[in-house]
Amino acid sequence: MNEKTTTKKQRVIYYSILAVLLVAIGVVTAIAISQSNKPGISIDSSTSDSNDDSTGNVTPPVNDDSSSTDNEDKPVVQVISFITPVQNGVLFKEFTDNTVVFNSTLGVYTGHMGMDFKGPENAKVVAVYKGTVKEITTSYLEGTTVKIDHGNGLITVYNSIEPIETLKIGLSVEQGEVLGTISTNNKQEYKDGPHLHFEVIENGVKISPLKYLTIEEK
Ligand SMILES: [Zn+2]
Repeated sequence: MNEKTTTKKQRVIYYSILAVLLVAIGVVTAIAISQSNKPGISIDSSTSDSNDDSTGNVTPPVNDDSSSTDNEDKPVVQVISFITPVQNGVLFKEFTDNTVVFNSTLGVYTGHMGMDFKGPENAKVVAVYKGTVKEITTSYLEGTTVKIDHGNGLITVYNSIEPIETLKIGLSVEQGEVLGTISTNNKQEYKDGPHLHFEVIENGVKISPLKYLTIEEK
């Protein structure tokens, strides 16, 4: 009897220990699953993040590699945006290559292959874009002309200008750098008062400055 009761007690203890162990295993497993789920999510996000990062890190070089030739091409096709060549200047005579406009000085209708800008007294003429001073010429009829070479066949012409003394051929200028002041030294346009006659030459052809210049309505 005693032996049976002890075996019964032992069985009870055994099963209870087993039950506790099972419960403990279950709890541990549940915790392990819940913890593995939580880190799983964060790991997923972190791995996805790191994947994004890694793909982000990998992708750009791939893009750079694939588009490096494009990037090498892009500077050639880079977007060029001129600023107004006269500080606080106002456009008063537009570019007309096929229609003629009245030239009040010459008293005739002619084409106007540039844009005329008025401005305040002694308004500053500035480089519309970075470039190199290509020419500084003066003639009785056309007055003084400064040409800036922007590369790739693009040249801007600043006529009826009084250039600053330090302006020299070969000088590099930045966009907005002062080249001189507006003038009346162009005898063909002097009746329009002090102004800048601005031209854009692309591959040897005078084109509308509006290709690169946006005129703000005032
Ligand atoms: Zn003009």
